[in-house]
Amino acid sequence: MRELGRIHHVAVVVRSIEDSLVFYRDLLRLELEAVADVPSDRVRIAFLGVGESKVELVEPTDDTTGVARFLESRGEGFHHVCLEVDNLAESLLRLEIDGVELIDTAPRRGAEGPVAFIHPRSAHGVLVELIEAQGGPSWKSLGYS
Ligand code: ZN
Repeated sequence: MRELGRIHHVAVVVRSIEDSLVFYRDLLRLELEAVADVPSDRVRIAFLGVGESKVELVEPTDDTTGVARFLESRGEGFHHVCLEVDNLAESLLRLEIDGVELIDTAPRRGAEGPVAFIHPRSAHGVLVELIEAQGGPSWKSLGYS
């Protein structure tokens, strides 16, 4: 079973996407693929391409979320790594059975596809996001076209 694919993205929390693009887009010369508001998560995000992976910049849009508290207490920096899986619901079920602490026990809508987060307590201090590869079973059930 090929369960894990590529590193989909690495996410960095920033105070301002606009300011951080000076480094990531203009100086590193990564290609800016998208900037989007995600009102449900109260963040603004940007994706920049790096080979088969991306860098995600995450800017909190209010101060009530976990991301905002992260920024407040630790400042800007590395936030999470996102790994691509073939079948997200199946991966979550297996991880849960194996005793892994999940933040999301079912796939939910993310900006780039169905996603779920694994608690850093189960991942040696790193927040891990899983995303389902394009066209997987959750794409249809979550209403992606
Ligand atoms: Zn992410």
